[in-house]
Amino acid sequence: MTRSLTRSRQLQLRAEQLLPGGVDSPVRAFRAVGGDPPFVARAEGAYLFDADGNRYLDFFGSWGPMILGHAFPPVVEAIREAAGKGASFGASTAAEGDLAELVRRCFPSVEKLRFVSSGTEACMSAVRLARGFTGRNFVIKFEGCYHGHSDAMLVKAGSGVATLGIPGSAGVPAETAMHTLALPFNDLEAVKAAFAARPGEIACVIVEPVVGNAGTIPPAEGYLQGLREITERDGALLILDEVMTGFRVSLGGAQQVYGVKPDLTTLGKIIGGGLPCGAFGGRADVMDKLAPLGPVYQAGTLSGNPLAMAAGIATLRELMAREGEIYSGLEKTTKAIADGVAAVAREAGVVLTTNRVGSMFTWFFTGEPVTDFASAATSDTAAFGRFHRGMLEAGVWLPPSQFEAAFVSTAHGATEVEMVVEAARKALVNQVT
Ligand code: PLP
Repeated sequence: MTRSLTRSRQLQLRAEQLLPGGVDSPVRAFRAVGGDPPFVARAEGAYLFDADGNRYLDFFGSWGPMILGHAFPPVVEAIREAAGKGASFGASTAAEGDLAELVRRCFPSVEKLRFVSSGTEACMSAVRLARGFTGRNFVIKFEGCYHGHSDAMLVKAGSGVATLGIPGSAGVPAETAMHTLALPFNDLEAVKAAFAARPGEIACVIVEPVVGNAGTIPPAEGYLQGLREITERDGALLILDEVMTGFRVSLGGAQQVYGVKPDLTTLGKIIGGGLPCGAFGGRADVMDKLAPLGPVYQAGTLSGNPLAMAAGIATLRELMAREGEIYSGLEKTTKAIADGVAAVAREAGVVLTTNRVGSMFTWFFTGEPVTDFASAATSDTAAFGRFHRGMLEAGVWLPPSQFEAAFVSTAHGATEVEMVVEAARKALVNQVT
């Protein structure tokens, strides 16, 4: 297939005049992989359609939210119905309680929660709350983890920060970054040493329980339990950032899969069914420190937005109603994709390490096991770029960076498994020629 991208190229030229880099979020740019970014006109099920009418099998799913595929009819209907009643009121609605109840049923550690409009806000607010609750300033995060773009969380962050190879961000005062301690993921000794160096000073440890933003990296056995024990011993809070893993690796997120109970959890992506939504929640005694009950301020004009609530409720209801079938189906499909492409890579003589947890996965172009950001960074990103361009040409759209997770939806089935394996065969053979 040789795609025409005439219209997308025109739109890109215009976008570059209006939006820095032509994008509203750096991860959408194709700087790391090369080639022209298609402009999306619409999407349905597992497919995206660009402005020139080309069709792509989608493996980034709006960076995670679209677990039921695009334009899933009950979600579309719920949004339509809510929109007809008014887009936003700035006053409480029943829908907020309805979605909160569903979230609590999926996440028993979440006794109380607050809705926000993004994962960034969820993480930023959870960290502020942890500091307010403990009266401590330091925060531990892990290299290659991304918790949104609030100042304190950009230190050694993953996702676009890692893709662009920048250690943090200009515009963040050193005094702010000073309180963020960035440690290697999957290394409990480093965490113990940090606590030993600052006893009683660390407010919280925030972690992606399965890293997605350095590419997919599962936690080592006992790692999350270790974080739980260390934080509890010191009186620090454990925040599991389940913005990506929540409702994704299981209905109850990574905390259900790995059996760990955090003090606070942050959620986003799937919780809003594709509309801007996030949430943070956890222990009631901690959450009750939030204004208006307590001294920790946090607010939002559009928080708990009725359209986002409606999309979230429709999404969670579907996931809850068909939990067994959905998560075993996602596991089966994603395993078939990972195994199929690994076999093709072996045949083609391309060195590939596949990391996968449920329906999130990454193909790293390295022979090393990928267990932390340093090992992820051994990937041959130029080879990934060639692979990305080859896959796109074959009609498969992967996240445009080595340091991102790919996602499978319930709309991906046997046909799509075959498509992606065949596309990889073409793309990987071109790698070695
Ligand atoms: N936390 C994690 C684990 C994420 O993957 C992301 C976004 O990719 C965020 C936080 C930030 O969420 P948002 O982009 O909705 O602000």
